[in-house]
Amino acid sequence: MRTSLTGWGRSTHSVADVVPVNDTGEVVELVQSAPERGILARGMGRSYGDAASNGGGIVIDTAALNDVTVDGTTVRVGAGVVLADLIDELLRRGLFVPVTPGTSQVTVAGLVATDVHGKNHHVDGSWGHHVTSIDIVDGTGALRTLTPDDADPDDFWASVAGMGLTGVITSVTFTAIEVPSAHMRVTTTPFRDLDDLMQAMREADRGARYSVAWIDSVGLTGPLGRGIMSTAEHAAAPVHGAHAAPKPRARPSIPDIVPSGVLSRLSVGAFNEMWWRVSGRPRTDAIESIGSYFHPLDGVADWNRIYGRAGMVQYQFVVPDDASEVIGIALNRLRDAHAPSFLTVLKRFGPGNRAPLSFPMPGWTLALDLPAGNPRLPATLADLDSIVLDAGGRHYLAKDAHMDADAVRRGYPRLGEWRMVRDRMDPRGVFHSDLDRRLALRAPADR
Ligand SMILES: Cc1cc2nc3c(=O)[nH]c(=O)nc-3n(C[C@H](O)[C@H](O)[C@H](O)COP(=O)(O)OP(=O)(O)OC[C@H]3O[C@@H](n4cnc5c(N)ncnc54)[C@H](O)[C@@H]3O)c2cc1C
Repeated sequence: MRTSLTGWGRSTHSVADVVPVNDTGEVVELVQSAPERGILARGMGRSYGDAASNGGGIVIDTAALNDVTVDGTTVRVGAGVVLADLIDELLRRGLFVPVTPGTSQVTVAGLVATDVHGKNHHVDGSWGHHVTSIDIVDGTGALRTLTPDDADPDDFWASVAGMGLTGVITSVTFTAIEVPSAHMRVTTTPFRDLDDLMQAMREADRGARYSVAWIDSVGLTGPLGRGIMSTAEHAAAPVHGAHAAPKPRARPSIPDIVPSGVLSRLSVGAFNEMWWRVSGRPRTDAIESIGSYFHPLDGVADWNRIYGRAGMVQYQFVVPDDASEVIGIALNRLRDAHAPSFLTVLKRFGPGNRAPLSFPMPGWTLALDLPAGNPRLPATLADLDSIVLDAGGRHYLAKDAHMDADAVRRGYPRLGEWRMVRDRMDPRGVFHSDLDRRLALRAPADR
């Protein structure tokens, strides 16, 4: 069915034929009869930009590929299994996913194809670290099983963070972690100064499995860059005697604070101020449900609509440890451009993995939700891109909607290596996306 598709940021749109598939055989047929504009697998469309869109071509809906098999800690799931459902299933068995993003409304194949990181990257790495095999239909129509070390490891690692451009993943096998309860023990600490906050986060690297900070990017009544660090561990004993996945605790509703589509600097500032006051109270070892801790925004339906018709750009970059000053520079540049961020999240990254297009590298990652309508935003982001790239950093393809080909080439020095594997896995050029075309991912490395 011809459908207008957008990413979670709602700032990019294109029309494609969305084709649901019921089994692997139907995927193979689509690959063998692919039209000129190609085909692309799509999960829940939670990437923010144009990564899961393929204007003029076919977009495969994988929702029906939803089998789940659990054997000890080995979990095999169909590509379209939604993380929220998987977490419910795993928690019943005292298990949990090794890495989760800030929403549970994603598919497992989407997690692998973007190599998602969580609040525990400094300890546990990203999704690719935990996958033991994937089944994938490549561009020749062959269904192949790939593993990280033995069965075509180059093809495996090109498909982890491969943005759907090496094939359609049909199933994923990964190792789950054992957890003693469905709850977290959470400690929150407010810091009025960005440098103090970052120092505390460096120290937390050594102790806490999960750590993240919310940053005030407006500073209506306090310093820009004040923030709240939250560290957490899985709670040792079952709370309320159950392994069920509690729903996220009720939070202040964003639409109550910011009327639909009316996001002024003042209202974003008011939201940041409210968050500082409500969430910034120091707490030690407070018990929270897994849903409330990891996926608080899932409790607010369609919160991305508050940005109105223009939508939002999520800007996420990583810089190495020796360029930590870029975090403060970015906050200042965006404030000067009157581009306040609704939600600003700072995390530490540990070592990356072998995937050439994987985003994480050791250092700092900052993610900002920026209203897309601001006319000064494109120039400000272009300026910030240069600062990030000059510092040896890069931008996250799963969030991106504004970069150009040169920024990817500079940020991902192994792009040429990835292109060679991609060309081998997809010699006819079957797989395409809007992101692929915008960033010229298929062009030769020495263009
Ligand atoms: C509120 C929110 C919080 C987030 N927090 C984080 C976070 O903390 N860390 C993080 O890393 N990311 C985060 N993300 C981003 C999100 O986790 C990723 O974009 C993820 O890929 C989305 O999964 P999806 O199923 O919606 O994939 P989609 O957005 O539908 O697709 C993403 C990419 O995966 C490819 N893909 C999907 N299915 C397949 C398949 N079967 N075979 C091959 N390729 C496929 C698509 O072609 C596309 O390139 C967040 C997003 C939101 C909205």
